[in-house]
Formats: sequence, structure tokens, C-alpha cells
Amino acid sequence: MSNVTLLKSGSRPKINPKKGTYFVQTWGCQMNEEDSEQMSLYLQDLGLKPAQSWREAQVILLNTCSVRRKPEDKAFSLIGELNVVKQKHPEVVIGVAGCMAQLRAKEIKQKNPLVDFVIGTAQISQIPGLVEEALQGRRFQSRLELPERKGKIVTSIPQRNLERTGKLKAYVPIQYGCDKFCSFCIVPTTRGRERSRPTDHIIAEVRRLAELGTKEVTLLGQTVNSYGKNLAEGNVPFSQLLQLISGIPGIERIRYTSPYPRDFRTDLIEVIRDVPQVMEHCHMPLQGGNDNLLKRMKRLYTVESFAKIVDELREKMPDVGLTTDIIVGFPGESEEEFEGTLACMQRFQFDNAYTFRYSPRPGTPAAEMEQVPTQVGKDRLNKLIAFQKEITVAKNESCVGKTYEILVDGPAPKHPEMLQGLSRCFRLIHFPGEVDKYRGEIVNVKTIESHPWGFTGKII
Ligand code: SF4
Repeated sequence: MSNVTLLKSGSRPKINPKKGTYFVQTWGCQMNEEDSEQMSLYLQDLGLKPAQSWREAQVILLNTCSVRRKPEDKAFSLIGELNVVKQKHPEVVIGVAGCMAQLRAKEIKQKNPLVDFVIGTAQISQIPGLVEEALQGRRFQSRLELPERKGKIVTSIPQRNLERTGKLKAYVPIQYGCDKFCSFCIVPTTRGRERSRPTDHIIAEVRRLAELGTKEVTLLGQTVNSYGKNLAEGNVPFSQLLQLISGIPGIERIRYTSPYPRDFRTDLIEVIRDVPQVMEHCHMPLQGGNDNLLKRMKRLYTVESFAKIVDELREKMPDVGLTTDIIVGFPGESEEEFEGTLACMQRFQFDNAYTFRYSPRPGTPAAEMEQVPTQVGKDRLNKLIAFQKEITVAKNESCVGKTYEILVDGPAPKHPEMLQGLSRCFRLIHFPGEVDKYRGEIVNVKTIESHPWGFTGKII
């Protein structure tokens, strides 16, 4: 029996595609958000205008994620729905991109034959050509474009559209792929081996952003602090790249995500301390708080080596912000190992943690290991969330009355009567003020009240 999604009578989704418009639906990490921005720029170069939702767009791109099962399920469900839409609206163009597209391209095409094209993670610059072809009516010749590979490995460096729109804050990828091969992670398969962008390309892009009004850049890489190996111009350590970017006029703040603990060295810590443009915040994924657990995860550090970095950071910068990622319910996780993770949360006193229940990714070594029962994983996740919340609340309470330097983003999305911004150490603060006067400015804000999500305060 065919796997193709069939149109059931009465099940047509209500849509109203407007000619000359596009929508990019994004799942996943900051790298995907940045890729989606690139896709939007390419579509705008074709003269297309953004639509409010996919239901109103003629060109619909889905930028997918494979890190957990949930976003994959969501993407497959929307692709199926769009395949149905296309039966009634053949003028609609549907493209699927991102990690899931890289990994499951053939399956996507087979189940959804009306999808116009499926592209890999390094093919974004091909979008204009593919969309033009589809708009010109070759839409039923569905195309599959996957990147250059050596064996099974993606090797190309994606081209970038540097005519970016002026934004206060911008992401800048500096590295693609990953060489670490953690046993739970599919990224080295979907995004390929680690490749650093040439330093002069990055500098040129950040200069252009600064000319367009960007004040804060966040440098992106799967293991961002291992940037710079094997570049044609010779090795350029990440700490050196930060210094070079800090010299670009107009760039007032530099952030980066995510560093890999093993590669977090003293030269980087000193640059964070000494270069005013580099923010005193590290989002450093611990993932698990027991050495055996870390070994099974194939994380290349121990609890004690992680602790050494935390100690050095706090010794050199007592107010540094520290956040992390934790996975619970990893295969074989014993009660003792989970308790080890809780003990680490207590010991390291992270300002916040992004916590996840392990989700097996087919094709990774951990998916073949003995799994923890679902309910055990759920219970542990709830316990961990409650545990960290207490730490966050207590830490936030202890910071009431302090003054932070804030870059004002504009109105707070959920409290538009207030402005919001982040401190250098990544604390979110809401405060009253006029948008026109303060948006994009750096101001000093004193915290008045703490909340689990951050603070309310006032400009001083
Ligand atoms: S460091 Fe590990 S978790 Fe991070 S992208 Fe690489 S393989 Fe995945």
C-alpha cells in the first residue's frame, strides 16, 4: 500500500494563498532560525513578500529539525497537510529544508509526492533557483538536492546572502557541523563534519551588519569555541576571533552559543573578562552529572573537568551568567546517576537550565542502548525542573537591588506596556520607558522585583 497522504473528502485545510508571498516555518535551534532568515532573504530577492502564516502564502518553506522526535512529528504532519493543500492549489510551492530533510529526504518525497523540492542543510543558496523553477510550472518534477559529501559526510560550506536586513541583534554562523559525535546526537550526520567559515568572511558579514544597524551579534556553532581549526589561513583560535570582531565599529555586544566544555580554555575566559564587547555569559551544556553517564553519552569531559571551568569563570568574573542543557532518562541512567545530575545542579548553581527528556534518534549509538522506561524519564524531568526552579528563584531573589547594563530590545512581547532587555550576564529585565527613546540604547536598570523568568526594574 502507498504511504502517500490522500485527500479525504471534507478534510481540505482552509487556505488563501496570495500570489507573490512566502512563509518560512521553522523548528529547532538558533542555527535553524538563522538559516530561515537566509531563506527569507533569498525569497525577498525574488520579489516575494512575507505572509502572516503559511495559510496565506504562495511559497511555503519548512525548515525542519531532527534533534528530537517531537519536531519531526510536527513537520511530517504539516508536510502531509500541505501535500493535500497542493491538490487544490497547484500554484502553491512547497519546499522542505533543514536537518530532517537532510536525513529523511527520500521518505519525505515518497510520502508527499507533491512537495516541490527537498534540500539538504548546505543547499540554502539553491532556493531561489528551485523556487523560480517551481513558480514557472515545473512544480510536479519534485527535486531532491543534497549537499556535497565525502562518503556519507557533508563537506561543503554553505554560501550566504550577506545583504541582510538591519536588525538590532543578529545571529552569525561561524562554524558548520560537528566532530564530537555524542552518542545521542544526530547533528554530525545531518550537518556533517566540523568546518569553520574563513575569518575574513565572518568579519565582512559582521561589518555589513554593523553598517545596517546591528549592535549585538551572537556567533553560532555546534561547538562554537572549537572554531578555527584547519582554516586555509592557519588556525585562528575562537578567542582571537572574538577580539577581531570586538574591533568592528558599531558592534557593542558579542555573544556565542554553544561552547563545548572540553574546549573552554583560559585564553577564552580571559577574553570574556578583558574585552568589554564580549558578554559575561556562558551557556555551557553539561548534559549529565555523572562520569559514567557522560562516558555513555560520549561527552569528552568529566564532572570535575567541567567544575574546573566553572570555578575559573567565577573566580575571574564573579557575576558571570551560567546556563546549561541537561538530558534526563538517557539510556541506562540509574537512580544514582540521576542523583549525580541533581547534585551537579546544586553544586554549579546555574542561573537557568534547558532540560530535556532523552529522545532516541534512529541512527545514533544511544538509540540502540537499553532505554529507560518512559514514565521514569518523565518523573525525573519533572523533578529536575522543580529542583532547578528553586535554584533560579533563589538566585534571582539575591540579585534584587543590583544594577545591570541592558541593551533595550523594545516592548516586552507579553507586557507591551514595558520595555525589555538582557543584561550582559543574560538576565531578562522588564522596565517602564518610552520605546522611541530607548530602543537600541544601552541603559542601566536597577532590579526592583524578581520572578522565576527574570526581573522588573527601573532605569537609573
Ligand atoms: S557536541 Fe555533541 S550534542 Fe553538540 S552537536 Fe556535536 S554531537 Fe551533537
